[in-house]
Order: sequence, then structure tokens, then C-alpha cells
Amino acid sequence: MIIACFDWVNYWDIKEVELTRIRRFRENRIAFHCPACNCWHMVSSELNGHGFNGDYEKPTLTPSVMWNGYSPLHKRVVKCHSFVLNGVIQFLTDCTHQFGGRMVELPPVDNIPHLD
Ligand SMILES: [Zn+2]
Repeated sequence: MIIACFDWVNYWDIKEVELTRIRRFRENRIAFHCPACNCWHMVSSELNGHGFNGDYEKPTLTPSVMWNGYSPLHKRVVKCHSFVLNGVIQFLTDCTHQFGGRMVELPPVDNIPHLD
């Protein structure tokens, strides 16, 4: 389980930023930017037992990522449930946003706009 939904940019240890499709945070925390929620979802091996295949270009996170929280994009609480496999987010049909059932390539970190 999870996670966080706000702009993490102020919290990065710059030495650990990977300018690909995923970011690594301290203590093995991995974050990807969710295009459905327009925010970062973070997983951690310590906090919630998630695994990361170590591939910053085509990351795989296991098991599935479940997030329930306030989405600044939707201005309401959403449920976001996905698999991240080989750099692609597979949104499951129990999502309460419009991406449920869709597959979307993880956006390159460089291209992610910051929320105001
Ligand atoms: Zn999401």
C-alpha cells in the first residue's frame, strides 16, 4: 500500500534523482508520476513491502500499487489501483478515475509538470 500525493520535488536528495521514468527517494523509496492523479505515488520496500526491478527506464513494481487519497487534479478522493510493469502503468478497473482499464506508458520524469 502507500503512499503520497503532493509535489515531492522539494524533498529529493538531488544525488539520487534519476531523470528517467521513475525517481528513487531515500531509503529505497521509489516514486512514479501517475498521469491519472497527476501526482507522485511512492512505494517502499520497508514501508509496504514493494519490490523494484532496478530498471529506471522500464521499471516494474511488485505487487500492485493501491492508492486512496485526495487528488489535486480531480479535487476529490480517488482510488488508484495499478500494476507498473516494464515501464507501463496498467490501471485496474476498480480505479475511481477515468484511467481505469487503460494502459499508459510512464511519462519521462523530465516532462512532468509541477502542480501549483
Ligand atoms: Zn494514480
